[in-house]
Amino acid sequence: TRQIFATRFVGIVITLLTAIVALMYLLGRERWMHEAAQRENQSKLQGLAHDMSIKAVTDPLTGLYNRLRLKDVLPREMARADRTGNALSVAMFDIDRFKRINDSFGHATGDKVLVALSRVAAGSLRATDHLVRWGGEELLVVLPDANAEEARLVAEKLRQAIANHRIDEAGEITASFGVAQHAPGEAMADLIARADRALYQAKANGRNRVEVAPTPLGHGVHTNR
Ligand code: GH3
Ligand code: MG
Ligand code: MG
Repeated sequence: TRQIFATRFVGIVITLLTAIVALMYLLGRERWMHEAAQRENQSKLQGLAHDMSIKAVTDPLTGLYNRLRLKDVLPREMARADRTGNALSVAMFDIDRFKRINDSFGHATGDKVLVALSRVAAGSLRATDHLVRWGGEELLVVLPDANAEEARLVAEKLRQAIANHRIDEAGEITASFGVAQHAPGEAMADLIARADRALYQAKANGRNRVEVAPTPLGHGVHTNR
């Protein structure tokens, strides 16, 4: 009887142990699968958030950054220029007589022109410059480390690149440019307003040209370079 009891006891213990191990395995696997699913969901959400944050600052037509992005980039560049004493300029430009292009060839062609000119402009800039679609057919370039004269040369190069780029459906297109160098401590809105006034001047002076905004009264300029 003792022998039989001992054998049965060992059998029961082995069965119990096996059951416990199996249970632990199943629970562990369940937990691992749950965690893996959670990790996957999390990385999907992160990817989605990343896509959305890019979409929020990207213009869907041209793929350029939009005004929202400028509000992030320009104050940072202005703060850096104020800290280092390096120059910083912006160039605003607007396609000449764009309404005529829409009216003559249709809105779709107008859109194509905008996309093509954005590419031409992007291709003529440095990697550290920031090109944004400011609105409608107006683009703005932030030019770190460029004083007014250097920015004027960049704008002139862009003007020529645009004027020399023939677009099959619409022929020759030109743009007018307003350049302004950031004055130390100047607010973003004031800098942009000066570039905008210079652009208006370029339009008034016959279009397809670059005008540079005068230094604001009572301000110096950064002269480190
Ligand atoms: P100016 O030389 O004085 O700048 O003349 P303009 O005709 O370019 O100026 P205006 O401001 O009168 O017209 C701008 C036009 O740009 C009007 C608007 O329909 C067009 N436009 C703005 N955004 C877009 C766009 O995304 N696609 C197209 N196709 N047209 C646009
Ligand atoms: Mg225009
Ligand atoms: Mg305009």
